[in-house]
Amino acid sequence: MNKDIIKKIGDIVGRENCTISREDLHCYSYDGTRKIFLPSVVAFPDSTAQIAALMRLAGTYLFPVVARGAGSGMTGGCLPVQGGLVLALSRLNNIVEIDRDNQIAIVEPGVITGEFQQAVKKVGLFYPPDPASSSFCTMGGNAAECAGGPSAVKYGVTKDFIIGLEVVLADGEILTTGTRTEKGVVGYDLTRLFIGSEGTLGIITKIITRLIPLPEHKETFLISSTSLLQATRLVAEILGHNISPCTLEYMDKTALGLVAKMLPEPPEPDIEAMLLLEIDGHKNEVSAQTERLYNLVQSTSHCTIRQAGTETEKEDLWQARRAISPATFQLSKHKISEDVVVPRSRIPELVQFTEQLGRELNLIILTFGHAGDGNIHVNIMLDRDQEEQQLKGDIARERLFRQVLSLGGTLSGEHGIGITKSAFLPLELDATTLKIMQKLKALFDPKGILNPGKIFPS
Ligand SMILES: Cc1cc2nc3c(=O)[nH]c(=O)nc-3n(C[C@H](O)[C@H](O)[C@H](O)COP(=O)(O)OP(=O)(O)OC[C@H]3O[C@@H](n4cnc5c(N)ncnc54)[C@H](O)[C@@H]3O)c2cc1C
Repeated sequence: MNKDIIKKIGDIVGRENCTISREDLHCYSYDGTRKIFLPSVVAFPDSTAQIAALMRLAGTYLFPVVARGAGSGMTGGCLPVQGGLVLALSRLNNIVEIDRDNQIAIVEPGVITGEFQQAVKKVGLFYPPDPASSSFCTMGGNAAECAGGPSAVKYGVTKDFIIGLEVVLADGEILTTGTRTEKGVVGYDLTRLFIGSEGTLGIITKIITRLIPLPEHKETFLISSTSLLQATRLVAEILGHNISPCTLEYMDKTALGLVAKMLPEPPEPDIEAMLLLEIDGHKNEVSAQTERLYNLVQSTSHCTIRQAGTETEKEDLWQARRAISPATFQLSKHKISEDVVVPRSRIPELVQFTEQLGRELNLIILTFGHAGDGNIHVNIMLDRDQEEQQLKGDIARERLFRQVLSLGGTLSGEHGIGITKSAFLPLELDATTLKIMQKLKALFDPKGILNPGKIFPS
């Protein structure tokens, strides 16, 4: 990008809010994939108007624009694979409004999700989408990826809580979608179109969210099983027994081993899997469901249940669960991390398949995740220095995807496609679907300047 364009970017956001220093560019060159692509320039706009002006400039000089929240994405979404401008949205970090009476809020995209959750909690309200990264990821990144988390099993994911958006389009026009009301069916649902669009259709500059009352009471349970199959079968059975957990997480033996020291009690050596489960709601309702849960687990072979007694114990259990993903790097330096989804009742087949795949290819493959909604994180551990392992990793991933689709599942439940899964898109989407999606992309971004190289296979 030439100096003249960089000067014009500085004129829009202020010289002090844009950088081309090599050290700074490195700070905005990576994400959760650990891949690195240097941008030409990073700008820190602080208003919708500045972003609109930057988009008009990009349309004139034809340089790529890549929105960046916290850079915690797991599929390379915020990586500037073709260089250009990274729009770092950290200065757009205001909670504009929390409307308690109407149970909605308006936030800017750079607001940290966990901080927003705490702010609404203070007024007795609840924003459920809770990615494990919530202490550092942003609301804009969550919207663009349609992030989910443990609570999705009861409350749903980001798209279920966003009812309106302000978006800067590729030509600099400002679009507002949706409503401030619970209901609204005027015209096409453009809000949903932008959610999960990974920064390829527009830059989200404001988000209107629904909120719900904070549940009155919550209990936490840990189910241990000496049989992987039995533990995973229990997932669908729990939901079939009129029990409505607000979280239902699963960890296999390898995942447990990584965080054993963080658990209130280390698991016995014969434990093959654990389920971490919570039930929330009114106290009576929680008690009735707890009774049904105990009856079910106690009548299931190989499984035992215990209730977390104290707040510290509950927090320790969650800290251990959240620590699994980063802790996997204790096993090897690199991994292929997938977030596939299968119907709940097919989880036992999926984990049996991954165990078999690991044995066959001599790779460590561990599974954990949001079992309540069938969203299992499959981590294929690799030593990148060994070419043979890389090849095996690629084989394992393709076989995993084919198996997931044959089980009636989908390639991604929350991490999106980005660059890491784009080659596999045609495995899941038929030619007509792909064509319509590409036409939509061309309609919103005819010059191909918004996050080029993402989602679609090249
Ligand atoms: C330890 C760890 C745990 C995680 N756990 C979960 C989990 O439980 N559930 C889950 O869903 N994800 C999880 N993730 C993945 C990641 O945190 C989410 O995808 C999150 O939504 C990304 O937010 P971000 O602010 O970091 O976005 P970034 O990584 O910066 O960007 C992600 C994508 O959004 C686009 N984007 C960002 N802001 C905007 C905007 N304002 N307008 C348009 N496009 C934009 C970017 O261009 C990019 O395509 C985890 C990641 C880590 C590292």
